[in-house]
Amino acid sequence: MRILITNDDGIYAPGLLALARSLAPLGEVMVIAPERQQSAAGHGITLHKPLRMTPVTLDAPVDEAFATNGTPADCTILAAADGRPRPDLVVAGINAGANLGEEVLYSGTASAAMEGALQGLRSFAISVTAYENCIFEAAAEFAAKLAARLHGRTLPRDTFLNVNVPNLCAEDLGLPVLTRLGRRNYSNELERREDPRGRSYYWFSGQPLESDCEEGTDICAVEAGNISVTPVHFDMNFRGGREELQELIDGLGE
Ligand code: MN
Repeated sequence: MRILITNDDGIYAPGLLALARSLAPLGEVMVIAPERQQSAAGHGITLHKPLRMTPVTLDAPVDEAFATNGTPADCTILAAADGRPRPDLVVAGINAGANLGEEVLYSGTASAAMEGALQGLRSFAISVTAYENCIFEAAAEFAAKLAARLHGRTLPRDTFLNVNVPNLCAEDLGLPVLTRLGRRNYSNELERREDPRGRSYYWFSGQPLESDCEEGTDICAVEAGNISVTPVHFDMNFRGGREELQELIDGLGE
């Protein structure tokens, strides 16, 4: 099995290393990851500057490893560089910080896996629910089990799995549960500050409102200590409200 490992936290992120070590025994492993932090880069791809792939040495028995100046989604595309066969499996992570609900829209980790799904490749993104003092071992172990099980199987078309693992030791971790994306409402804050030259600048901040926990959602699963596995499809069509929306546009062309 040819496995591509990527992330959005950057090539030297400890979560990537844990993932590389756990997946290395499963097949031929290639790592391509951004040279610097790209969290919340979304599904951007690079069209207006040259992309570089710089060989790096990781402390993991992988076959090849590269840092790139591209985005996480670029990494998935770059896996086919220089005539390499496309990977059988794309795994993005292990991200430091949960990717729950609408966060998949911003997440570079989820987008790298989504890019794999768009190319018809089996893909999953995996995150732990903490930014600091992350426990990557249990998540890495789960990633290896899931990857092994995906060998010789397919996922539904255009779909990747978004996995979120509570930041717990293996013995405290619950079971994997199939979930749907919840809604993680944020208290969006836009902080205005002043630089030493008196010019204003802005800093995004805000906290997720954890109270929004509906049964069956990814948010609910990880709050209960379980591993959330959400199948995510790129189809963003809204299928309700057709009559009202038809009425909204009726006559606008006259
Ligand atoms: Mn990240």
